[in-house]
Amino acid sequence: MLESVRNLAEKVIGGELISRVDAAALTAVSSDDVYDLFYWANKIRIHFKGRNIRFCAIVAAKVGGCSEDCKFCAQSSHYQTAIAGQNKLTDQQVIDSALHAGAVGADSFGIVNSGRGPTRNELENWLGPMLQKIATEGKTRACATLGALTPETAQFLYDNGVRRVNHNLETSENFYPEIVSTHPYSERLNTLRVAKAAGLSLCSGGIFGMGEKWSDRLDMIFALRDIGVDVMPVNFLNAIPGTPLENQPKLPPMECLKIISICRFIYPTVELKVAGGREVCLRDLQSWIFFAGADSTMIGNYLTTYGRSPELDHQMVRDLGLDWQSYEQGPVQPAAAKPLLSRVSHTGKFNIPILHEAEVAVDQELISARN
Ligand code: SF4
Repeated sequence: MLESVRNLAEKVIGGELISRVDAAALTAVSSDDVYDLFYWANKIRIHFKGRNIRFCAIVAAKVGGCSEDCKFCAQSSHYQTAIAGQNKLTDQQVIDSALHAGAVGADSFGIVNSGRGPTRNELENWLGPMLQKIATEGKTRACATLGALTPETAQFLYDNGVRRVNHNLETSENFYPEIVSTHPYSERLNTLRVAKAAGLSLCSGGIFGMGEKWSDRLDMIFALRDIGVDVMPVNFLNAIPGTPLENQPKLPPMECLKIISICRFIYPTVELKVAGGREVCLRDLQSWIFFAGADSTMIGNYLTTYGRSPELDHQMVRDLGLDWQSYEQGPVQPAAAKPLLSRVSHTGKFNIPILHEAEVAVDQELISARN
């Protein structure tokens, strides 16, 4: 047993946070010693999170046609991928997905939209009523991934019964310009700040395997700990044909598990959620995510790729002698029957635009030009 890993683990279990230098030492653990890392990450998970894990589910309500150029994303209109143009699910399809998510034990259910941020019309006339319905049904937590938020749109979501938003940092501030050029890292940080100020629980993490260094990984994990996110999704790049990252090799399973373990050492109390890329990158080692320190995972399909059936994940959890914690807070009542956004356009000190329908037309022009 590596004494250095044991000492750090005991420090964490004793309630201390490890430093950046400590974390860098953990990244150097290699070969058979990574099993020590898993062993202690598992101990830390059990100490802080117990034996219940959590599931969440998402639905891509609006897919494709995005003005942004995130290099990992099949939905960007900058790249020729299998996602052509923009499509929306019907309200009933979204509601049915939420009910199904609750029925299979998802603690949270996220409505996910492509795009830099939600438009006023989408929020008031489409997303708001759907989110209210999910919140008042009370079968799962209403969660939203809508891109950049302003103080006003964050408050609007809260007033409609949303209690958590997902907005990933994706990577470190240093590596970010290699991945996205159409909106700044500061916009992502500001969105998390305004969401927290509105009383929303924060779900934010990133994608590993995009060509970043270990120092980038640590930068992001420490940034998320400093912000105090409640849930940290760990995604592994599942390279999408047609995107600039299409030839990026998949991370080996043991490296994925090492990343999970180091996240648990750095941020012992976070809900550490293994999300996209689980099936394709971990393959037979999927069930090891909990031994490596995760206490949460996504079930069902991802945004543009398939996951596996919830029943297989239920079986995996039972086979490990664990159980899952379904949503138990019950219905959340909206603050008003139909909360409205102000009619005044502003970006405020956070410099996040509230998008108007006119700006969506620009997206369409971009798509037409590409086609
Ligand atoms: S903003 Fe979202 S939908 Fe648009 S390209 Fe980036 S990740 Fe994809």
